[in-house]
Amino acid sequence: MNHGAPDGAIDRVVAEIERMGSKAHLSRGQFRTVIGAVGEEGTLDQTHLSSLDGVEKVVPIMKPYKLASREFHDEDSVVIVGGGRSVMGGDVPAVKVGGPHAACIAGPCAVENREMLQKIARHVRDAGAHILRGGVFKPRTSPYSFQGLGLEALKWMRQTGDELGMPICVEVMDTRQVADMEPYVDCFQIGARNMQNFDLLREVGKTRKPVLLKRGLAATVKDWLLSAEYVLSQGNTGVVLCERGIKTFEDSIRYTLDVTSIPVARQWSHLPIIVDPSHAAGKRDYVAALALAGMAAGAHGIIVEVHYNPAEAQCDGPQALLPQMFKELMGQLRQIAAIHKREFVEAGELV
Ligand code: PEP
Ligand code: MN
Repeated sequence: MNHGAPDGAIDRVVAEIERMGSKAHLSRGQFRTVIGAVGEEGTLDQTHLSSLDGVEKVVPIMKPYKLASREFHDEDSVVIVGGGRSVMGGDVPAVKVGGPHAACIAGPCAVENREMLQKIARHVRDAGAHILRGGVFKPRTSPYSFQGLGLEALKWMRQTGDELGMPICVEVMDTRQVADMEPYVDCFQIGARNMQNFDLLREVGKTRKPVLLKRGLAATVKDWLLSAEYVLSQGNTGVVLCERGIKTFEDSIRYTLDVTSIPVARQWSHLPIIVDPSHAAGKRDYVAALALAGMAAGAHGIIVEVHYNPAEAQCDGPQALLPQMFKELMGQLRQIAAIHKREFVEAGELV
């Protein structure tokens, strides 16, 4: 739409797009409003749309992912995680991810018990993490490994987040869990193994909670953005991408962190992107280097696993940072973020 096109003109274009059988997606930027029309190309009368009041131009988006593309939304998106009153009554600060805002999500791989969760959460909060992570449904290679403590542990996550003033990010594995989890979480995590669980993507897309979308173990950047498109197509605009390493022939590390995917995804898409150094490294010695590399490549933050007693962790102990290591890493990350003019706000500055 033209700069300053009035609401009436925007509403008219939306109505016309819907009359032609397509779905209209509004993106209000600082300078202009873009209306995405997603549907069968043949059914959209471009000449008619061009002639409507306030329309600057009609451009077909060539990329297969439409709403995720830079063509649809030129400026970096900023996703807000948390904010407002939680279901358990706590005040949850709003954390911004994207554009100039960098965020750190930290916590245990899995919630093992309440005390351990509270202890780790306090450590990471005091060291500067903004959002608390902790899995309650764990995707494990073996069906005999610890599978997570389920909804009871989710309530401990909520309580702990409320007590410490941190939004929570928790993995959802199955469409049947979405409705039960939605009231408690501030952000749904979609795990690497579920990146192409299209029903699950659509289901979280129907909610209005942000979605952290991990890259699949063997997914291209294009596949990944098409998965983001599933969520966006349902009207949920809060997608944060997460590079967590892919399978390659290299076997000295758990996965290979594809640092290149960060500038590629940033060029092709407006969505924020963070890096998960823990699952790529598989070993705590390598975690800090990968986190810093991801930030240097232009990521908008990290998600990292931390444990004070990793030897006894039920899941992913070898890659968990010790609290002191995490604290040092946060200091280094702030410096690297500054070269891209991104800022990790101090937890005390959050409202
Ligand atoms: C996790 O975050 O603990 C996890 C299982 O990650 P991923 O899906 O990337 O393997
Ligand atoms: Mn893990």
